Amino acid sequence: MRASILVVFFAWLLLSTACPGLAQESMVKVGNSVISEEAAKFVERGTQLSSKQDYEGAVKAFREAVKLAPEAPELHVNLASVLYRTGKFAETVSECNKAINVNPKDPFVWSIAGPAYQMLGQLEQAIGAYKRCVELSPPQSADRKRYLEAVHGMESELKSRQSLPPGNPNNYLAEVTWDGVHCWAKDKMPLKVFLADGKSLAGFRPEFDQVMRNSFGEWAAASNGKVAFTFVPSKQNSDIACTWSNDRSKFVQSGEAGQSIQTTCADGVLHADIVIACKTPDGQSITTEGMHGTCLHEIGHAIGLHGHSRQADDIMFNSDVLFRTTTATLTKRDAATIQALYELKFLERKQK
Ligand SMILES: [Zn+2]
Repeated sequence: MRASILVVFFAWLLLSTACPGLAQESMVKVGNSVISEEAAKFVERGTQLSSKQDYEGAVKAFREAVKLAPEAPELHVNLASVLYRTGKFAETVSECNKAINVNPKDPFVWSIAGPAYQMLGQLEQAIGAYKRCVELSPPQSADRKRYLEAVHGMESELKSRQSLPPGNPNNYLAEVTWDGVHCWAKDKMPLKVFLADGKSLAGFRPEFDQVMRNSFGEWAAASNGKVAFTFVPSKQNSDIACTWSNDRSKFVQSGEAGQSIQTTCADGVLHADIVIACKTPDGQSITTEGMHGTCLHEIGHAIGLHGHSRQADDIMFNSDVLFRTTTATLTKRDAATIQALYELKFLERKQK
C-alpha cells in the first residue's frame, strides 16, 4: 500500500513591477492585472511573509490586497495559496473559484484547488480540478504526469469508497479492510524495524530519524499493546525496513510523500518496505510536522491499514501533508481502528 499524498506546486508569489507608462503614477502591473500601489505594497508584504513561512501573516496581507483590487485574479491566487497552507481549505477553494471565473486557463490555480478539494474530502471535485491541470499542462511535462497519476489515484479511491457501507463514527475499519485483513501475526511481535541512515540525501535532516522512531512508538501506544516494535541494526531479517529516497522514479506514484508496500501470504504479513522522500517533488524542504504526518501514515499502511479514512483529521486520511505546520497526532478513531483490526484478526484465527 502507499500514500497518495499530493503536493501543491506553488509557483511563488507574483512579483509586482512598477508601471510608469500608465497614466496614473500610482498604478502597478501584477501579472496581467493593474493594481494600485497601495495594493501592490500588501502583495509585496504577503510575499515576504510567505517566504519566511509566516502564512498567517501572509493571509492578512493578501486579504488587504484583495480588498483593494478584487478584480485581479492573481491576488486571489496568492491568497488561495497561503490559505491552503494555514489549513483553511474551504476558503482556499472559494478564492480559487474567484480567480478561475476570470482566468480558467491557469493550471496553477487548478493545482491549488485540487488538493484543497481533496482535503475537504470532495473527491469528485478534486478529480475535476486535476483533470483541468492535466489539460492545461505542457505535454510530456513532469507536472502533467503527476496530475495524471493523481487523477488515477483518486478515481480508484472514489471507486473503493462507493462500495463501502456508510461510515462508522467510531472507527474506519470497513475502509481499511476493503481488500481483506492484512495483519502481522501475534507471534511476530515485537516487529523488527530497520531504519536506514538518510544523511547522504538532499533534504534529509537528522531529526527525521527520531521523528520516524517516535511515530512507531505512537502507533504502538495507540494499539494498546496489540502491535509492538523493536529497532534492529540491519535490514536483513527485519520485518519492516524503512529507507529514504529522493528518486521518485522508483515510487509507484511520483507525487507521493512516501510509500509502504506489504508482502503478504495467507498467514499474514511477511514483510513491509517503507520509503520516504526527503524533499517535495519540486525540490522544496519538508516541514518536521509534514515528515511526522507522512511517517505516521506510512507506518499505518505497513501495520495493516490497507486504505484510507474518510475523515480529514484521521492520520489515514489520504491527504497532502508535506507542508503542514501543525503537529500530526493519531486520533481516537486511528487508535480504535488499529485495535479493532487486530481484534478481528485474532478472532478469525481462533475460529479456524
Ligand atoms: Zn495512504
